[in-house]
Amino acid sequence: MCGITAYVGHQDALTFLLQGLEKLEYRGYDSAGVTILGDQKLSTVKTKGRLQDLITILKAQPLHGHVGIGHTRWATHGVPSNLNSHPHSNADETISIVHNGIIENYRELKDELMAHGYTFQSETDSEVVVQMLDYYYSDDLLAATRQTLARIEGSYALCILSTHEPDKIIVARKDSPLIIGEAQGAYVAASDIPALLEYTKNVYFLEDNELAVLKADSITFYNQQGQAIQKESVEIPYDLEAAQKDGYDTFMLKEIYEQPHAIAETLRGRIHENKVYLDELQNIDFNQYHQVYYVACGTAYHASLCGSQVLQKLTRLPVTAMVASEFRYNDPLIDEKTLAIFVSQSGETADTLAALRLAKSQGATTIAIANVLGSTISRDADYVLYTCAGPEIAVASTKAYTTQLVLLILLACYIADRLGFVLDAKLLEELPHISDHIAHLLEDHERFAKYAKLLEDQRDAYFIGRNLDYASVLEGALKLKEVSYVHADAYVAGELKHGPIALIEEGSVVIAVATQPQIASKTINNIQETIARGARVVLFTTAGQEVKNVANTYYLPEVPAVLQTILVAIPLQLIAYYTACIKGCDVDKPRNLAKSVTVE
Ligand code: GLU
Repeated sequence: MCGITAYVGHQDALTFLLQGLEKLEYRGYDSAGVTILGDQKLSTVKTKGRLQDLITILKAQPLHGHVGIGHTRWATHGVPSNLNSHPHSNADETISIVHNGIIENYRELKDELMAHGYTFQSETDSEVVVQMLDYYYSDDLLAATRQTLARIEGSYALCILSTHEPDKIIVARKDSPLIIGEAQGAYVAASDIPALLEYTKNVYFLEDNELAVLKADSITFYNQQGQAIQKESVEIPYDLEAAQKDGYDTFMLKEIYEQPHAIAETLRGRIHENKVYLDELQNIDFNQYHQVYYVACGTAYHASLCGSQVLQKLTRLPVTAMVASEFRYNDPLIDEKTLAIFVSQSGETADTLAALRLAKSQGATTIAIANVLGSTISRDADYVLYTCAGPEIAVASTKAYTTQLVLLILLACYIADRLGFVLDAKLLEELPHISDHIAHLLEDHERFAKYAKLLEDQRDAYFIGRNLDYASVLEGALKLKEVSYVHADAYVAGELKHGPIALIEEGSVVIAVATQPQIASKTINNIQETIARGARVVLFTTAGQEVKNVANTYYLPEVPAVLQTILVAIPLQLIAYYTACIKGCDVDKPRNLAKSVTVE
């Protein structure tokens, strides 16, 4: 995820590009750059760091011209560095591009281009696009773009400019957003509406596989077959502040709704014909380990609890999930036959980092699962896998959690496969469709808002589940307490009668998850025990379970049991969200919490 901007018109391009990038910085901020076409040549300034660093450089050496492209990066391939920053140009600096997305087949294309004598400046996947444009260009930039796009697999929003055809910018998209604005004497483009609003409220939404050629006074759209098509512009009815949240009231809600896309990005290129590909780990010999640790904090710990259970089920290896602050001080049993997996959204979580260093110093092989490329944990670990959730702004984690679940399930399947275990084909068949199921669940938001109403006057809430459902309810309870300040505890359902049931009284709210076929009926029996004591219950289960007397029962879509952990996260997030709204809490900035916990 990143932000891109483009300007072609009669005024100074740089002013538009920089104000646009400022509005898009929430989408990525590890490096930034611009290319301006002026005096028949391309001038590029780019740098690692925040947008402000780029602005400081440009103040000292301003670039002038009426055509330009800009980028604020959230690295997916290649650490944040000056060279890996966008825009990328061909060797003779006649073509320049910015890219948002992931080119899945970039290695193959890079090899092919290198065989033709091309050399590469960066470690990014994006650079193949500009080199390939150079390869195909003879005298028609649009034709070269179409030939290049036909070769690319993956997701992209692209802006392309060239000294050969200096009056235009070509933009294209597939699975990454791109919006075009019709401004006074200019056409502009950006990843998101806020970047355009100072210049125009009239926008065109480019659809997947469509292309547009922007000139100062005209625009032409093309479909995938290369035919010119007509598009209607739309007037944006809201202001800048609402636009930054994509029209959502809060970042948390926006991020909840981004989950289908974030998960699709995380899965991209990692499953092919029911086999998992995690090339980053291909050099590991998994036969050497006699135990596996999962170590994390907070939400990432809940994802780890789930991932660890899946790995144990699939491989029968002894697996332990531990909270990082406990792991580091509890004298864990580590040796060179230990595999230790560390999960952290930011990649900077202090306790997780300390635990990683401890495990490494005692001989373990370490794998990091992080969302921020180049973060300390991802650099310190022996191996790293990235979730592709994009920047998460809301303090309460939503899309980072579900993408961690997806990646941890993939990892468990990958290790099992490498160890020679036969996998449940249904699981890998269904995983690529999980985003569609989530999209359907999101359509049911009114039902989840109704469940949240039950908590309106409550100080406490009780979450119950067993096995994988226990990991899910731990996260559901954490989400609720983080954003709504309702005291919520999660219990293993079988433990209720060993204590917690003493708390249940008339009107108590119990949220139960019973999705695991081998154990769901047991949890449903526990629910009856709470109903008998006056509890109001919300139950998430699957078709086929016999449920009596539970007014608020929600049947989740039919998917393999392991994947229910991903699906049930959605209603639990929305219940927490709506409860916080009912109680008037500041959802994006809960009291006493910070996004990245970099202190012990
Ligand atoms: N994959 C590209 C890179 O790592 C673009 C990432 C982005 O969308 O920010 O440079």
